[in-house]
Amino acid sequence: MKPFSDFNSKLDILFTDIDDTLTTDGRLPAQSYEMLWKLQNAGVAVVPVTGRPAGWCEMIARLWPVLGVVGENGALAFQYKNKKMHRTFIVDEDTRLNNAQKLQTIRDEVLHSVPGAAVASDQFTRLFDLAIDFCEDVPPLDKKAIAQIVAIFEKHGATAKVSSIHVNGWFGDYDKRSMCETFYENNFSKKLSDNLESAGFVGDSPNDEPLFAFFENSFAVANILEFKNELATLPRFVASEKGGLGFVQIGQQILHCR
Ligand SMILES: [Mg+2]
Repeated sequence: MKPFSDFNSKLDILFTDIDDTLTTDGRLPAQSYEMLWKLQNAGVAVVPVTGRPAGWCEMIARLWPVLGVVGENGALAFQYKNKKMHRTFIVDEDTRLNNAQKLQTIRDEVLHSVPGAAVASDQFTRLFDLAIDFCEDVPPLDKKAIAQIVAIFEKHGATAKVSSIHVNGWFGDYDKRSMCETFYENNFSKKLSDNLESAGFVGDSPNDEPLFAFFENSFAVANILEFKNELATLPRFVASEKGGLGFVQIGQQILHCR
């Protein structure tokens, strides 16, 4: 990993994680929100990529200075354009309802078997996945308990990913990367994988690793250093600050190179 100040390319689009990347201690600092505006005004399209729910994405796509947002770990992308909300979903409605039933069974088993785990407070605005809180609104659970939650999802044939606050689980063969590619192609009528020199991604934790591996211009805020030994693929550039202030450092360097 190189310091963020070594980055020296021109980006047109920046995908970014939200939790603990744009935010610090669970809040969105004024500086990182302002940086989103600065990037947009300089012609860098920003696309948050998150495990957060459809309900949040509706608000983000409508209010934030972003091109669009990828949510629920790649199940959906929302874009507010010409006074209309454009929604892309990865699975059809019948499949979604069928999967929701299966997730209920998993939910009951997790709550019964893992003391201290809770359904995430934003679950009611989710369409495709089940989020189990292990340290957002509950006292932090240890790694063994988190692994137990993941094992329950996988036993039922679901995919499970651990973020910095939740275990998210879903049925279906999709992930954040596949929806980033779909979103890009829908907007620019060309493949993201053919245009990686002008695209970047910022993240903070092991669940961002597939995107660190995919993007040539991969960045992390300083929180990533805590997980350095758990990652097979490190981001290329790292900020010296954590969370939102780290995102601001990276954003400033991207603006400097425009
Ligand atoms: Mg994160």
